[in-house]
Amino acid sequence: MQINKLSLQNFRNYSEQEIAFAPDCNVIVGENAQGKTNLLEAIGYLSCGRSARARKDSELISFGRSECALRGEIFSRNRSFLVEIFLSAGKRRKMSINQVSAKRASDLSAVLGTVFFCPEDLLLIRDGAAARRRFMDRALCQLRPRYEAALSEYTRAYEHKTRILRDSEEYPGLLDTLPEFNERMARSGAVLIYYRARFCERLKEYALIAHRECSGGREELSLSYETVRTVTDPFAPPDTVYSQLQQHQAEHDRAERMARMCLSGPHKDDISVCIGGVAARAFSSQGQTRTAALAFKLAERDIFKELTGEAPLLLLDDVLSELDPRRQEYVLNRISGGQVFITCCEEDRLGTLLGGKVLHVSEGSVR
Ligand code: ATP
Ligand code: MG
Repeated sequence: MQINKLSLQNFRNYSEQEIAFAPDCNVIVGENAQGKTNLLEAIGYLSCGRSARARKDSELISFGRSECALRGEIFSRNRSFLVEIFLSAGKRRKMSINQVSAKRASDLSAVLGTVFFCPEDLLLIRDGAAARRRFMDRALCQLRPRYEAALSEYTRAYEHKTRILRDSEEYPGLLDTLPEFNERMARSGAVLIYYRARFCERLKEYALIAHRECSGGREELSLSYETVRTVTDPFAPPDTVYSQLQQHQAEHDRAERMARMCLSGPHKDDISVCIGGVAARAFSSQGQTRTAALAFKLAERDIFKELTGEAPLLLLDDVLSELDPRRQEYVLNRISGGQVFITCCEEDRLGTLLGGKVLHVSEGSVR
């Protein structure tokens, strides 16, 4: 799959821009604060209807404007697609594919897939569990429409339940509605666990290989999916997992009411990672956890390829400059066979090493 053309109107610091991309490697060069990351953000948004860094869509609209538009000409599944997205402050966004209205982000993902990799991702193994959940969520939302639907249902119910528990001191009557939200969380939570367990199984395989290669065969990476304690087998059918989640909720009902916090459910899931048999978060060196993070990201791309038959776009934001020469070389050797976007500040060694098309970005305009 590839994006051949991107047009932006009032997106971040781009007022009006049209860019043609090379089918293989695109090197985006420019000084700080010129719009390199914004460009990757726009491509990412076209693939999953959300930004890797903005909290609200309205942040994407240029300062002083009330609307923005993104258009991508995409070639995937042996066909051409025109994906259009209009954002307007205070209104629902409009999305369409080949002029047909698209309701959900998963409609976009069916056309375009991206793997985004930025320097913060190098902390993926060291960070708290939330970072690893975000990693799973971002990948699975693109790969599985049912996952995306379950995640938004779960998040809605979770937020509602959290508000009920928080406000229950003032309004005890609210607690009568808890069973309804528990039911919704257990139902959608079982779907999340179903997909996460299978995703981690593949991740385990691919990341092991990537980590081994990148560490020169010296280190073994192992990982396991960790979810709610009562779920004895996350691969069990969702109905079984559903009752096990309900059991956990029942056991924690009293504690939740006392703490006024939502303590039960897969919103606390994690992936535990070991390098050379020891817990990576506690014992591994910075270089080891960075290598493992790199292995996770490359594995995400491999899983994508396996499940969809096409390589997703790889968006590398400033990440190569953060890697030592050996890891840089490793990444560069692995990225062929798909469309890649790489940002860097100078058209130095990397730019020339990679070949491909060089795009110069300056003050929200691409040359
Ligand atoms: P760096 O090399 O430092 O990472 P960059 O080229 O990746 O820089 P971007 O993150 O793309 O830079 O941001 C470029 C500029 O866009 C910033 O100066 C920022 O202030 C500006 N910007 C961000 N959001 C908006 C917006 N909604 N409207 C207008 N400008 C914005
Ligand atoms: Mg940047």
